[in-house]
Amino acid sequence: MKSTLLTALIGAALMIQNAFADPPLAIAVHGGAGTIERGALSSEREQAIRDALEKAVRAGHAILVAGGSSLDAVSAAVEILEDAPEFNAGRGAVLTSEGGVELDASIMNGANLDAGAVAGVKGLRNPIQAARLVMTDSPHVMLVGEGAASFARNRDLVFADDEWFITDFRREQLEAIQARQDAAVTELSEDWFSTVGAVAIDQAGNLASATSTGGMANKRWGRVGDSPIIGAGTYADNRSCAVSATGHGEYFIRHVVAYDICARVAYTGQTLAEAADTVINEVLRQAGGEGGVIAVDPKGRISMPFNTAGMYRAAIHADGSLEVGIYDDEAE
Ligand code: ASP
Repeated sequence: MKSTLLTALIGAALMIQNAFADPPLAIAVHGGAGTIERGALSSEREQAIRDALEKAVRAGHAILVAGGSSLDAVSAAVEILEDAPEFNAGRGAVLTSEGGVELDASIMNGANLDAGAVAGVKGLRNPIQAARLVMTDSPHVMLVGEGAASFARNRDLVFADDEWFITDFRREQLEAIQARQDAAVTELSEDWFSTVGAVAIDQAGNLASATSTGGMANKRWGRVGDSPIIGAGTYADNRSCAVSATGHGEYFIRHVVAYDICARVAYTGQTLAEAADTVINEVLRQAGGEGGVIAVDPKGRISMPFNTAGMYRAAIHADGSLEVGIYDDEAE
């Protein structure tokens, strides 16, 4: 009883602290968008997903409340989601046509437009850590394949074997895809979007965003989607917004989705909500591109539009309220 009261008091104190914070603290995370219909997930899987999203957003928020940077907050949140087997990133990532795992990740600092990314990297437990080191510890923005892995090895990042990454769920998924398709065609289905990402604003008013993925199931030829591409899957600029995307990456690349949202905010006077909604529900929808974004602006306003049946998402808003959602009929 006492501990419940204490938790309630701490919660109230955090809400008050948040409400008066200038700029307000806010963080959002996603675990992918796609055909996520009610009843399609077992109740255990749905609960595990909601728990992981909440754990990630709370971990990032705790860093912001303690005065940590938005970069630290989005990295910590994404690492938790990379380690959670429910999502298509790190552990539990989708499999390539050869049954392997090739990971992509990127991160961006809205304070100075520094950015880092890795693509097509194998065996790296937390690709977001490598993306961050590319940003802070190399003169480059993006490293790929074996080069990215050797950069990560030189920086003592943790590697893991297939046992860590490959889940039965992903094995069965790959078998099912390959059983029903022409081997010459790489099937891309919205069922399988579950990339992870985070956006945040910290006490200094700095925005950051991070995205991590296994890409698309059954991918081949070294296919890379939008997630590690700055401007497509990830973008952050203190003057407009921070965005992390999920969805059919080819469309997000062609429409430079993350940057387009920030550019609309910067140049057209649209609010973040208007800009994000226009790009996801008009531009992308008309093009046939499915997916969604999470985004935050310099006032700590969060937007999480998607044009699919669902998007795994969670946020702690500037007033301190927690939101966790999957389906489109859950209130934002
Ligand atoms: N956007 C990712 C990609 O195309 C997939 C996803 O969001 O699940 O690689």
